Amino acid sequence: TMTDKKYKRVLMKLSGEALAGAKGQGIDLETVSSIAQEIKSVHDMGTEIAIVCGGGNLWRGEPASKVGMERSRADYTGMLGTTMNALVLQDALERAGVPTRVQTAITMQQIAEPYIRGRAIRHLEKGRIVIFAAGVGSPYFSTDTTAALRANEINADAILMAKNGVDGVYDSDPRTNPEAQKFEHLTHLDIIKKGLKVMDATASTMSMDNNMPLVVFNLNQPGNIQKVISGEEIGTTITG
Ligand code: UDP
Repeated sequence: TMTDKKYKRVLMKLSGEALAGAKGQGIDLETVSSIAQEIKSVHDMGTEIAIVCGGGNLWRGEPASKVGMERSRADYTGMLGTTMNALVLQDALERAGVPTRVQTAITMQQIAEPYIRGRAIRHLEKGRIVIFAAGVGSPYFSTDTTAALRANEINADAILMAKNGVDGVYDSDPRTNPEAQKFEHLTHLDIIKKGLKVMDATASTMSMDNNMPLVVFNLNQPGNIQKVISGEEIGTTITG
C-alpha cells in the first residue's frame, strides 16, 4: 500500500555486527530472521529498499594488516565476508516472502549478479530488494563509503544507518558515559568537524558533497525502520 512515507527509496546500511546478535561475532540466524521481518514490514509499505551489507562480524582488513597481512589482500578477504552476509540476509528475506537480488562489486557470477546500476534500479522499481555486496570492490574503502556511493547512484532519498543498540548520534559513547547527549539534527560537516563516529570521513565527505540525508537509528527496537520511513524522528537526522 502507498501509505504516507517520507522516504520512497532508501539505501539501508546494515553493519556486519547487526547480523551477529548477542555474540557480537559471526552470524546469528535468528537475529538475521528478525531483521528480515523488520525489513519486510517496510517493503510491505511500498518502500523501495537497497541494502549495503557490512562484514565486520566476520573480518576486518585493517587489523589483519596491522599484524602483517598485506592490506589489499586483507581487504579483499573482508569483501568476501560482506558477500557471505549478503547471501544469508537474502535467504532470510526470501523465506519471509520478499523477492531479492544480490549484486556484487566483484564478479562472482555463479552466486550473484554483478553490480549494474541500471539493473539495480529496475529491480527496485519491480519491488525487489537489492543487496549490494563486496563493498565498492576496492581495498582501502569501507561499506560506509559503499553506502554513500550506491545511495547516490540509485538516487535514494536517504541512507538509513541501522545501528546495533544505539539510537542515534551522541557527543560521547552512551554505553560508557551515562551523561552522553544525543543529537537530533546534525550536518555532515558537524560530523566531520566534531569527529563523531557515524560513518568514516570518506563516506561523510561524499554524503556532504552530494547532499545525501542520513538517518541513524536503533535497529534492535521492533518497528523502528517503519517509523523512520514514516518520518518519525526517532534517531539522529543528518543533512547537507
Ligand atoms: N572492504 C573493502 N572495500 C570496500 C568495503 C569493505 O576493502 O569497499 C573490506 C574492509 O577490509 C573492511 C571489511 O571489508 O574492513 C568489512 O567491511 P566494513 O568494515 O565496512 O563492515 P562493517 O563495519 O560495516 O560491518
